[in-house]
Amino acid sequence: MPSLPLPLRLHLDGDALAGNWRALDRLAGSAACGAAVKADGYGLGAVEVAGRLAKAGCRDFFVATWAEAAALAPLGLSVSVLHGVRAADLTAALAVPARPVLSTETQVARWRDAGGGVCDVMVDTGMNRLGVSPDAVRAGLLGGLAIDTLMSHLACADDEDAAGMAMNEAQRSAFAGLAGVTTARRMSLANSAGVALGAGYAFGLVRPGLALYGGIPRGSLAGDIRQVVFPHAEILQRRTVPAAATVGYNATWRAARDTEVAIINLGYADGYFRGFSDRGGAQAGGTRLPVIGRVSMDLVALDVSAAAFLAEGDWVAIDFALPAAAAASGMSQYELLTSLGHRYARDWD
Ligand SMILES: *Cc1c(COP(=O)(O)O)cnc(C)c1O
Repeated sequence: MPSLPLPLRLHLDGDALAGNWRALDRLAGSAACGAAVKADGYGLGAVEVAGRLAKAGCRDFFVATWAEAAALAPLGLSVSVLHGVRAADLTAALAVPARPVLSTETQVARWRDAGGGVCDVMVDTGMNRLGVSPDAVRAGLLGGLAIDTLMSHLACADDEDAAGMAMNEAQRSAFAGLAGVTTARRMSLANSAGVALGAGYAFGLVRPGLALYGGIPRGSLAGDIRQVVFPHAEILQRRTVPAAATVGYNATWRAARDTEVAIINLGYADGYFRGFSDRGGAQAGGTRLPVIGRVSMDLVALDVSAAAFLAEGDWVAIDFALPAAAAASGMSQYELLTSLGHRYARDWD
């Protein structure tokens, strides 16, 4: 079947993606800068993202699962699998060209018994999510393993308040205390927000995800990071809604005066969450077009009274600068990216 013309597009700015990686690489100083491309490259498309970042100079890639690693195998990159090796993963883990990030004592024993080869290890320094304990590491848990990267993960890297910074410092210091304790060739602690915490957090490798894709987890990154994802939707109908009539589900929006309304092909099934109801917006020809009423599964209404030039079949650019879109919708920047879904044509330039 020929590919069908989709009424919804993600314009993806490849220069901005590569530029964001270069900015993070510069901020990381002498540490290497990798890329988290789990969840299909945070919704953008892992193969496209990883290929572009590899071209920019990125050498270390992180996914969550072996299926995600297998999808990247044709690119021939260095890939680490953050969730390690479950019993059911072992066959794939021995066959797919990627390293597990071992994160439990059971996984360590499984990998050693299988003679699995080079691995990474996650140490828990206080987040209490994944990772083996620093005490077990000191007691020799990792003896006999060929470890590339020893990792830990920050719980509060994007917290700008004093309690968050105290937690960051406690984790940094606990992690730094493991230097030289294992055979690992390097250490890695920082995600995107961690890169902004300064040189003491960079160790040998940083692992940003969000900021590569235009997310800004700490204000100090705002000048360095550019928007990558630009959704565009087609107008399916333009209509005049008379004063006092309502628009959309549950009739939550009522026209104060005769209002020009455009219905666009976008909805919460595309990751345009209901939190954008009455709060989101779009742009056309330099005019802002506010969302009115409830976001539906597949449709959104815009007030286009200020845009006489817009007609059925025209396209509008959805406001999607991540910090502002997160504030408007009540979703996190991560959720906005990873929920984008499969109904968009993804067009890279
Ligand atoms: C997802 C993830 C990252 C990337 O985090 P961002 O906040 O998106 O930069 C880094 N390390 C680990 C262990 C992760 O799970």
